[in-house]
Amino acid sequence: MNWLTNFIRPKIRSIVEQQKDVPENLWQKCPSCEGMLFHRDIKESLNVCYHCGHHMRISVEERLEVMFDDGKYTKVAAPKVPHDPLKFKDRKKYSDRLRDTRAKTGQEDAIRIAKGTIGGCPVVIAAFDFAFMGGSMGAAVGEGIVKAAEVAVKEKAAFITVPCSGGARMQEGAISLMQMPRTTIAVNRVQNAGLPYIVLLTDPTTGGVSASFAMLGDIHIAEPGCMIGFAGKRVIQETIREELPEGFQTAEYCLEHGMIDMVVPRDELNATLSRILNIIFNKKIKVKKGDNNSKKNGGNDKKVVSDKPSGVKAALTQKTTADKAVKNAPANTNADARQKTATKTAARTSAKK
Ligand SMILES: [Zn+2]
Repeated sequence: MNWLTNFIRPKIRSIVEQQKDVPENLWQKCPSCEGMLFHRDIKESLNVCYHCGHHMRISVEERLEVMFDDGKYTKVAAPKVPHDPLKFKDRKKYSDRLRDTRAKTGQEDAIRIAKGTIGGCPVVIAAFDFAFMGGSMGAAVGEGIVKAAEVAVKEKAAFITVPCSGGARMQEGAISLMQMPRTTIAVNRVQNAGLPYIVLLTDPTTGGVSASFAMLGDIHIAEPGCMIGFAGKRVIQETIREELPEGFQTAEYCLEHGMIDMVVPRDELNATLSRILNIIFNKKIKVKKGDNNSKKNGGNDKKVVSDKPSGVKAALTQKTTADKAVKNAPANTNADARQKTATKTAARTSAKK
């Protein structure tokens, strides 16, 4: 029997262990069409199903790479806040929950701030990390958005938020709800400085997040099929005791009902944002003479015009500029969406006057 235990068993074990080294998740199933997706192909398609176009969630890092020019950006540190101010406890202590999530994700909280350029225009992005407690908004996230808005104003950059959140962080009680007015004031500051504020809605955008800064953008863009709403569909159905329509709370439904401006596939995000920002930055940003920060606009300030077109005329001028500005940008010429954007921007300028 000796040869069995000494020779055969280790041999079998080594074969079994070798097989274990092969990653189990080479293939994954699309949650929408149930098609099989190979890990390398799905990475290449930016986590979008190449059978049906279903947009799956991506990490914040990948998201930022997709959005910024050449995938390059600089991280901005989010301010520290006192954690667990209420000494909250449900089934588990909130402080323990935080500690565990921090250890698991290696991140301080659910927000990431980054700056860089999109289409050559200066941009500050505040993006949510769904992996961190469902992207819930507590004091740290609120503080992060305030900080990002401040950086945008200081550097005369466009401000983009990318919510991916279930809403306010209940473990912080009223403090988490206070982030709704705080973030609202933060984005108001950006808008008062004459800078564009754009929201990229991703799956999901719900609760206190959709009830505050996420619905206050000058332009709202959403990823295809993403869920946008305040309360969940089932909760609404149970409250109003009525059947809700097909596709309720999806990006496409919101677009149809005028809640958002456009639905943009992930691989066209950079091109679309480039086009929008070029329209806005070439025409609308007025940089004071002798301002040190003016150089940071990547030379765009040279094209600033002093005339103030208004109404329909402005929209038309905008459209022409759009065509000029994006002559070299990749395709996706959704003329409808562009017209809408231009009109909206023009309306805002007229209102400012
Ligand atoms: Zn699919």
